[in-house]
Amino acid sequence: MGEKSIDRASLEMLKKAAREEITTAWDRFAKQQPQCGFGLLGICCRNCNMGPCRIDPFGEGPEEGICGAGADTIAARNLLRMIAAGAAAHSDHGRDIVTTLYAAAQSEAQGYQIKDEVKLRALAAEFGIPVEGRAREEIARDLAREAMEEFGMVKGTLQFLNRAPEKRRALWQKLGIAPRGIDREIVEAMHRTNMGVDNDHVNIVLHGVRTGLSDGWGGSMFATEFSDILFGTPQPVRGKSNLGVLKENQVNIIVHGHEPTLSEMIVLAAREEDLLALARARGAEGINVCGMCCTGNELLMRHGVPVAGNFLQQELALVTGAVEAMVVDVQCVMPALARVADCYHTKLISTSPKARFPGAEHVPFDEHTALETARKIVQIAVENYPNRKQELVEIPEAAMEYVAGFSVEAILQALGGTLNPLLDAIKAGQIKGIAAVVGCNNPKTTQDRGHLALTRELIKNDVLVVQTGCAAIACAKAGLLLPEAAAEAGPGLRAVCEALKVPPVLHMGSCVDISRILVVAAAVANALGVDICDLPVAGAAPEWMSEKAVSIGAYVVGSGVFTVLGTVPPVLGGKNLAELLTRGAQDVLGAAFAVEEDPVRAASLILAHIAAKRRALGLEP
Ligand code: SF4
Ligand code: SF4
Repeated sequence: MGEKSIDRASLEMLKKAAREEITTAWDRFAKQQPQCGFGLLGICCRNCNMGPCRIDPFGEGPEEGICGAGADTIAARNLLRMIAAGAAAHSDHGRDIVTTLYAAAQSEAQGYQIKDEVKLRALAAEFGIPVEGRAREEIARDLAREAMEEFGMVKGTLQFLNRAPEKRRALWQKLGIAPRGIDREIVEAMHRTNMGVDNDHVNIVLHGVRTGLSDGWGGSMFATEFSDILFGTPQPVRGKSNLGVLKENQVNIIVHGHEPTLSEMIVLAAREEDLLALARARGAEGINVCGMCCTGNELLMRHGVPVAGNFLQQELALVTGAVEAMVVDVQCVMPALARVADCYHTKLISTSPKARFPGAEHVPFDEHTALETARKIVQIAVENYPNRKQELVEIPEAAMEYVAGFSVEAILQALGGTLNPLLDAIKAGQIKGIAAVVGCNNPKTTQDRGHLALTRELIKNDVLVVQTGCAAIACAKAGLLLPEAAAEAGPGLRAVCEALKVPPVLHMGSCVDISRILVVAAAVANALGVDICDLPVAGAAPEWMSEKAVSIGAYVVGSGVFTVLGTVPPVLGGKNLAELLTRGAQDVLGAAFAVEEDPVRAASLILAHIAAKRRALGLEP
């Protein structure tokens, strides 16, 4: 492994962690070396108790597991299980937002309101729910019920698939991969990968795409759309990012994880006068709520709440010694946090019944009493302020401004209400294409380097970049989410950004908000009368690590978008499987994966792809 990070604040805190003998993900990564070759290649199986079985990649040992499964079958089954787990995570998050809307509509969800009635009515109409003359609560209740149906649906296919271009929908039908219900595809994935069920790697991958599509055009889309109804559809907003957002003289609370339901309430509670008065009584000047990972993204998109960092900074935030409470819900929360928190005065507070952490204090969250729970948590943090060990406090200075909040609606607004200016710029070659750069951090690669190098290379070559997740936080920290970053763009993109006063890199939200990117891609394809795979667009996940990213990859490629991965997925042991994912998929889905660890070479692949698509559309490359 090369350098651990290119982020100044992270490097500073890594030095402090070393001085204080605190181990982080990077240390644990080093201890894991060399990582198991069978695991890296995806050719170990423990799907039944005759195993575990391993295939010898050099052809000198076993070529089959005890049941006779070969390398392609084993690697494909493992891949499908990763997709199912990722789709489950996004979709269960979506379900929680749906049930919160349902409770809010029944006036049973304390503190929640319907913030975007226009979106509520538009979505209801999309689902065929009558809206004329009806109260919003009534509409919301019916819409939430319809949405709940889509999880375990017994009729037809997912409603949101209708947003995709006709050609894409026809292809999904022809291939038999149009999802028939979110939960159903995940359950079927687990069934198929059971010992002795689906052993054909092509058939397994096709179901992997269907499972992924049930996430992208199902669970994730529900999470996004229903969060907008409840918390408001994001609009451009300014805020600050990186560990420098923590405040020396304030109670610092970090909300980390994924779901906005509790964190929205914590933001509200932290503004209440009695809690602010309590903070002053305990010697603090105020209460500073900051985000981390995708909870951070949800809050920054809607409120401009400062974001303390991305995935690999969760432990480092505690190493500052200045965090009174880290409040976690679900996903991407390292179990190691409890040990790091123990070295300082920090309270690690878990809140979800689905995610308990030994060593953390558990304050159960329930949407029916959300505001009360949020107040309790803020109070715990405030009461903890006097316990801060001043001699251990060191907050890095690094804090960079960002502009985020580019929902589809906000993009349309910036364009003057129609996609035409964007289409004209693409046709004229001012903007060569659009690339989605998304995903996590991973200690296998230098933190943030892939995100920044790839993004910079793309905008320099007039490719508009849209982002979500930890990739977007990386770019926020580097100043690429500011309109001024247009100076780093090629002349065409720069002129468009300066005219519209937008950054060349648009932050579209958390990982579930990749559904917003699908909506934009579908709208552009529909406007041009083509399929998504005909567009000069591409996807990239330079530093991905999560199973959720595997699900995202499946639905993005399944939707027709060429996608470059920066860390190698565990499939290379199945040679035919790898060939299918990187080449064969192109003939079937009109898109495939590429793997390229070097971000500049990854950019070249994307630029070549965009040029080829432009040529095929009759546009100047
Ligand atoms: S399913 Fe087959 S390959 Fe997997 S552990 Fe059982 S016998 Fe081995
Ligand atoms: S981008 Fe990856 S690491 Fe970051 S919050 Fe999303 S899934 Fe977690």
